[in-house]
Amino acid sequence: MLALMLNTVTFSADLLHWYDSAAADLPWRRSSNPYLIWLSEIMLQQTQVTAVIPYFQRFTAAFPTVEALAAAPLDRVLKQWEGLGYYSRARNLHRTAQVIAARGSFPWTAAELQQLSGVGRYTANAIASIAFGEAVAVLDGNVIRVLSRLDDLVDDVSKPATQNKLWERATALLNQERPGDHNQAMMELGRMICRPRAPLCLICPVAKHCASFAHNTQGQRPVKPKKARTPHYDVAAGVIWHPSGDGRVLIAQRPAEGLLGSLWEFPGGKQESGETIEQTLIRELQEELAITVEVGNLLTTVDHAFTHFKITLFAFDCQLIKGDPQPIGCADWRWVRLNELEHFAFGKADQQVIALLGRNF
Ligand code: SF4
Repeated sequence: MLALMLNTVTFSADLLHWYDSAAADLPWRRSSNPYLIWLSEIMLQQTQVTAVIPYFQRFTAAFPTVEALAAAPLDRVLKQWEGLGYYSRARNLHRTAQVIAARGSFPWTAAELQQLSGVGRYTANAIASIAFGEAVAVLDGNVIRVLSRLDDLVDDVSKPATQNKLWERATALLNQERPGDHNQAMMELGRMICRPRAPLCLICPVAKHCASFAHNTQGQRPVKPKKARTPHYDVAAGVIWHPSGDGRVLIAQRPAEGLLGSLWEFPGGKQESGETIEQTLIRELQEELAITVEVGNLLTTVDHAFTHFKITLFAFDCQLIKGDPQPIGCADWRWVRLNELEHFAFGKADQQVIALLGRNF
């Protein structure tokens, strides 16, 4: 079997030799503080390193310790996370910080770390190996790609049986003396050299161990199921002005659980079949806040992609004509001036509407 041909000792030596000279200088790599490593691992889920760096720096300036994060109100945490996406990460981080602060110390084994909410095997092993030197391997998208190419794996990597096989393989390859560096080196190799498209095999430090390189099958690995077409929805939102004409607009807070949980938004919702987009807005505002509005001009449209679907947001200028807002389908609501919007955390699509309002009013 090709997988058995790989010499784990020389593989690890080649990998670490490369990592020692090529590792990027990232802010979370300058410390073995488990809080900072945990934070970086959560921020790096689904997000590119370059996008994470400024968020990491701002977040750690605002909340330098796990205790500071635990003591902060959720709104402040979400505001620091604003724009990074996948907001359930911020809510879990905040909740888990409170558990750690109450317990008095950071858990330091992978087994203990995995007991924390929102901390799966990957994150627990990353923290335990990098902060505490525990010999446990990691498996994320980058490592899956590297391993499946090293072994020229023909199995579908989305299947649980293949994932188990990959965990075993990652564990077998792990350098026992430097597990944290080995894990970071595998991820870095996937990010910088063994890239999804056009891997840089000619400068790869482990090319001589790589079965896909030998067979010229890099482009076909890892094997994944065909992607279903991403659904698209039209969504209406209202910029509703206070009837007194004092320049305040109505914003609503989304329920704590679910997509963009606890974030603020210009109220509205998804178009249903048979409705015009204006009718959608009138219906949604009745259902969400028990108010009736007159829908005015279209202010802007914003295209935005979430993980499993895309939206086009139609933002309308609106006048309130009947009803006092009630939090029926939302967690809370407020009338705020435009210059107060910066104190609330909004999703990316709504931030574009805010930018437009800032320019026009
Ligand atoms: Fe990836 Fe190419 Fe290196 Fe193999 S040789 S690990 S395919 S970059």
